[in-house]
Amino acid sequence: MTETETSQLQLHHDVPCPGCGCLCDDLTIGLDGTEVKSIEPSCAMATAYYRQQHATADDCRIDGSTTTVPNAYQRAAEILQAAKAPLFFGLGETSSEAVRKAIDLADRTGGIVDASHPTFYDPTGRTIQTTGLVTCSLGEIRQRADLVIFWGCDPKTTHLRHWERYSAEATGRFVPGGRSDRTLVGIGSQNKTTDACDTFISLEPSQQIAVLHHLIALAQGKPDNPSVLDAAMADATQQLGQLYQQITNSKYFVFVLGEGFLRKEAGRIPLELLAQFVRPMHEQTRGAISILRPGPNWVGAAGVVASRTGYPGGATLTQGIPQFDPDNLASAKLLSQSRVDAAILWEGPWLADLPEAARQALANIPTVVLGHRPLETDLTPSVFIPIKRPGYSDSGTMSRMDDMPLPVRALTQEDLPAAEEAVQAISERISA
Ligand code: SF4
Repeated sequence: MTETETSQLQLHHDVPCPGCGCLCDDLTIGLDGTEVKSIEPSCAMATAYYRQQHATADDCRIDGSTTTVPNAYQRAAEILQAAKAPLFFGLGETSSEAVRKAIDLADRTGGIVDASHPTFYDPTGRTIQTTGLVTCSLGEIRQRADLVIFWGCDPKTTHLRHWERYSAEATGRFVPGGRSDRTLVGIGSQNKTTDACDTFISLEPSQQIAVLHHLIALAQGKPDNPSVLDAAMADATQQLGQLYQQITNSKYFVFVLGEGFLRKEAGRIPLELLAQFVRPMHEQTRGAISILRPGPNWVGAAGVVASRTGYPGGATLTQGIPQFDPDNLASAKLLSQSRVDAAILWEGPWLADLPEAARQALANIPTVVLGHRPLETDLTPSVFIPIKRPGYSDSGTMSRMDDMPLPVRALTQEDLPAAEEAVQAISERISA
């Protein structure tokens, strides 16, 4: 854009961005009318978020046919009221205020609430209950971390500004030189992030548990049989010995974890083992675990569900009181096992990645979808309700990947209901 064109834009400063779990709150967004024309600092994912197609009132549908928003509310209310076990999910795509309303609606209709991300496995809640977990804010990483270990993740691809803003290049109070004051280690499969690290430890998923046990043995000063580890991973003893030395020599170390570490098929074990390693390390230095979660508000949604039901991440309200069954209440599992007879969800990129059995089940039950963009899957929901886009035309509270709540604000107006209003309107149409 030319300088003159830029000067004619309406600029919004310090805008929080719901484009990913980083929720960067330092963007300057330039609007020409309602159109986003400029985003600074530049981020391809932020551009994709703000410039993706908008849902409009014309996208409102009942069984694929155009309808009005009030009619869509009425049909959604009928579906939820007729269901014996309606599922509420996709909650991390909306504000914490809207999640609160959704829980009220689930309570009225005897629903099952799942605030967890349907395709990103994150056992943090259960790990905190079992072994405990030392975590930190992104600000602590930025200000303190002089050793950052990226394990099974690639923020340079999935969270584009994490590297510059928090974990690698950012200057901080105790790392004033930024990148030059930090040692970066990559573990797992090679990717853009590990290529930019100082050292890289190649690790297969099948080697992960043996490596974690070896680190725990080092931290606790216990004997370990190196032949077991070396059989799983050549040169492991030497590489892990060096990593352990780097950790003990650091002032503040952070493990940044992604899907490659959390591996759903391994359950909570990898995270619990890493937590067991990090805790005793505090006798020698300081450190924490940070999980690279998707955005925008999965952490906030889980927090609201926990505060309203008493249980982390999900609960069933089918019997009038919240009940907890974390291993069986994941939405993909409930759908695949045909244990719900209706669903209401907030649309997001994860919908395209749902396991096939869950997608098929969703297509076979009455489904209400709320979305700020047209659906990008072949699902034809019973009801589609277009809503305002968070951080563009809708405001509210969203929590960053480190559980830091931030106020997301509306930059412009759209002639659509906010998510919170839509849920309230459906609720008001449910007869007592
Ligand atoms: S890194 Fe994520 S939150 Fe930050 S500007 Fe890019 S998309 Fe937005």
